[in-house]
Amino acid sequence: MPFTTDAPAAGSETMSFLDQDHQLLIDGQWIPAESGKTFEVKNPADGSTLTSVAEGDRADIDKAVAAARKAFEDGPWSRMTASERGKLIWKLADLMDQHVEQFAEIEALDNGKPKSVAAVADVPLAIDLFRYMAGWATKIEGNTIPISVPYLPGAEFHSYTLREPVGVVGQIIPWNFPLLMAAWKLGPALATGCTIVLKVAEETPMSALRLGQLIQEAGFPPGVVNIVTGFGETAGAALAAHPDVDKIAFTGSTEVGKLIVKAAGETNLKKVTLELGGKSPNIILPDADLPAAIAGAANAIFFNHGQCCCAGSRLFVHRTQFDEVVEGVAAQAKEIKLGPGMHPETGMGPMVSQIQQDRVCSYLESGFREGAQAVVGGKRDACSGYFVEPTILVDTKPNMQVIQEEIFGPVVAAVPFDDPDELIATANDSIYGLAAAVWTKDISKGHRIARQLKAGTVWVNCYNIFDASLPFGGYKQSGWGREMGHEAVDLYTQTKAVTVQLH
Ligand code: NAP
Ligand code: MG
Repeated sequence: MPFTTDAPAAGSETMSFLDQDHQLLIDGQWIPAESGKTFEVKNPADGSTLTSVAEGDRADIDKAVAAARKAFEDGPWSRMTASERGKLIWKLADLMDQHVEQFAEIEALDNGKPKSVAAVADVPLAIDLFRYMAGWATKIEGNTIPISVPYLPGAEFHSYTLREPVGVVGQIIPWNFPLLMAAWKLGPALATGCTIVLKVAEETPMSALRLGQLIQEAGFPPGVVNIVTGFGETAGAALAAHPDVDKIAFTGSTEVGKLIVKAAGETNLKKVTLELGGKSPNIILPDADLPAAIAGAANAIFFNHGQCCCAGSRLFVHRTQFDEVVEGVAAQAKEIKLGPGMHPETGMGPMVSQIQQDRVCSYLESGFREGAQAVVGGKRDACSGYFVEPTILVDTKPNMQVIQEEIFGPVVAAVPFDDPDELIATANDSIYGLAAAVWTKDISKGHRIARQLKAGTVWVNCYNIFDASLPFGGYKQSGWGREMGHEAVDLYTQTKAVTVQLH
């Protein structure tokens, strides 16, 4: 694999931000963790230390939840009009727009992804999400409902519903799209008038901390958005179990998702939404536009180094075209330049952490032990960063770990099929149901297969298409509820039915 080095340094704005003291945002103030502890943030391209941040824990979560509760109950947030809320969210998006380059650099250094990708995908999508949600603030409406009440003949009523904010929301986000995941979570919560305690991923806290500064600058009242850096097992678990949190919105592994549900069940039955893992099938039918499908299959698995919950990690190709497609995707894999996210020629950066690199490599080893072969890639890159080569596996069996489990790295298993009708059952044979794709020139076939696939998102002749207005989330063990779109707005509100008797 080609490898680039000697990345240019980040701009002075980013460097001076990284040099700051990084504390917790609680009740409108930046404060150290109660324990005084901090932890280091690594640059995954070379394992060096970027900076350090406060290590929040239970005591800090308690303070943040109290601040969010006060802001929710007492105002000024709760007394603001919907229009004022919308304007504040829009203002935050405008401020972000002035710092696209800086956010892209922070993501490149902290997460490892190419700055060039973050600048056109992560950051603009995050800004767009806030603008989309700013519009929703003034459009959250109830209904008037004609009621009959058969046991009170002749009585007259006026019934209507109110959609009210759920309240104090705990949000726990992962490291694969640090800024974008913060936006997906914060946007609908702010639009609906909730208050928030955001626990960011330990591996990638930096862009959310910069966002916190802009939230302050935009003029959100104290306590509306609280940001706690810290570890999942401590700060995250304390948030999930907190009796005064009304809802938890979580994105991450299915395993931790189950812990969140358990914590909610054992405390106050807080509402839970989950966006979890996937093992998404990507199906190339014999009548597909092959060059487009090959490019799409490469993008489906190699975008963001495969660290996507919706990554197209099971590639199904008709046997007659199998070799051609595998060779085509392999040729694209060989073209991808590995390197630090800050290098302009980098096509794929490192895995986010050594733990993730080890996790991906141990999946590869398990596949090889069970008889799978790598057509391209198949190992870590021997350097100080956490790189894994883009990999295509063949000769897999349906029960192998590499077919059943989410690898969350640049590893696709290519599987030939003979009968398209039997393929649907194979494609649906997963505990997950986040996304799926089909490539065909027969549009009726495309629509029909879209209906048959058990997934929250189906792409036809495309992959990785996202928009703030499109709901995203999982069937089966890929999650509960949806991110984005009006469905996300609904999930941050609850319905109150009001009935007035007319005399
Ligand atoms: P993870 O452990 O599920 O982490 C996601 C978030 O949950 C992080 O903020 C994490 O905090 C927090 N967390 C961890 N344990 C917790 C607990 N007991 N209670 C409350 N919060 C907790 O994911 P990961 O370790 O970063 O990655 C493991 C695997 O998860 C990946 O290989 C991948 O398969 C999957 N994953 C999926 C997504 C997705 O978008 N669906 C994203 C990331 C990972 P810390 O960062 O402090 O641990
Ligand atoms: Mg973790």
